Amino acid sequence: MIALNKHPSGRHFLQIPGPSPVPDRILRAISLPTIDHRGPEFANLGTKVIAGMQQIFQTRHPVVVYPASGTGAWEAALANVASPGDAVLMYETGHFATLWNKMALRLSLKPEFLALEGIDDATGLPRSWRHGVQAELVEQRLRQDGSHRIKAVCVVHNETSTGVTSDIASVRRAIDAAGHPALLMVDTISGLASADFRHDEWGIDVSVSGSQKGLMLPPGISFNALSPKAIAASKTATLPKAFWAWDEIVEMNRTGYWPYTPNTNLLYGLSEALDMLLEQGLPQVFARHQRWAGGVRAAVRAWGLPTQCADDRVHSPVLTGVVTPKGVDADALRRLIHDRFDLSLGAGLGKLKGRMFRIGHLGDCNDLTLMGALAGVEMGLKLAGVPMAGSGVEAAMAHFASEPQASSQPQGHASR
Ligand SMILES: *Cc1c(COP(=O)(O)O)cnc(C)c1O
Repeated sequence: MIALNKHPSGRHFLQIPGPSPVPDRILRAISLPTIDHRGPEFANLGTKVIAGMQQIFQTRHPVVVYPASGTGAWEAALANVASPGDAVLMYETGHFATLWNKMALRLSLKPEFLALEGIDDATGLPRSWRHGVQAELVEQRLRQDGSHRIKAVCVVHNETSTGVTSDIASVRRAIDAAGHPALLMVDTISGLASADFRHDEWGIDVSVSGSQKGLMLPPGISFNALSPKAIAASKTATLPKAFWAWDEIVEMNRTGYWPYTPNTNLLYGLSEALDMLLEQGLPQVFARHQRWAGGVRAAVRAWGLPTQCADDRVHSPVLTGVVTPKGVDADALRRLIHDRFDLSLGAGLGKLKGRMFRIGHLGDCNDLTLMGALAGVEMGLKLAGVPMAGSGVEAAMAHFASEPQASSQPQGHASR
């Protein structure tokens, strides 16, 4: 074994917003022997995970599973429905929206990148990276597109670089209000199975997700959830697609198989993750993420630091972005915390590099693991000489102690 853990005792605190910590139960499931992906037992596994993922996406329509990271599923979404030179309307909420926009360019599409203009006075950071998608801007732009050149509207549900969510139902309403036929494509790579998400009810045509965030799996599989309209579009779209093409996969999935070798062991893990999530129930899963987010925000408020999210209505339940005071290099702070306390925090990405850090609170956490993480951050802030208004640890303890856990069976040690 290579020495990946230089600390002799205890568990590393993987407090980044994905990959999230993988529960023992899932690790054990993944360690089972690989089976014949054309054999008789495999079909049960394939059928189960697809049906389970339909429940997670809240859809009755096909869900495609790829042996790829989330980026692959981004490409799949675009490659299946678009033709070279197609206009797509994308919305700049942060670094991940920016990367998807760059990918559209590389695929020879004509992405237009809509953003909330201006710089935030308090932090000097772009306003668009502190707020969710503004549906009225989408509606305004679509109303100007009388000839319907725009083929799709692409937005990120939970912008992992900032800790801001977007109201996806409002984007659907904007498209409908403009009377525009564009497809709605949504990246919920870090939102799914942590934040409320409803593929069918919200009128989404393609949802994109990945394994290593709310689903608590290692990186390596990703998803497209489809709508009948997206499937129809894929039949006439002309971007080259082979590995990513939905048609053959959806066809073979009907019997529980794939046209090529799927990631068998990660599918064991997915099957286990689905049992855990669906046994607990999605409403309880969403509630515990909101509860953790509330505790972490209470800590950040007590420290007197701004959250990257500037709109109280759209704080992410998955992660919290914390802006460091001017002159405090957030990357140096993260390094210090990592070296001293074996705690990994998310970096500021793209335009936010060095200006903020991210605390992940998703998947296999509980109140006390989060208290440990917050203690690590608070000690780090103190060591780095960052002035704090008060103790975030005390504020978070008060939050968790005053708010009882949701009533359903928590993922406690009985289930391990
Ligand atoms: C993690 C993430 C991605 C990228 O997924 P990979 O698995 O790293 O390819 C894209 N979008 C969002 C919102 C993410 O959180």
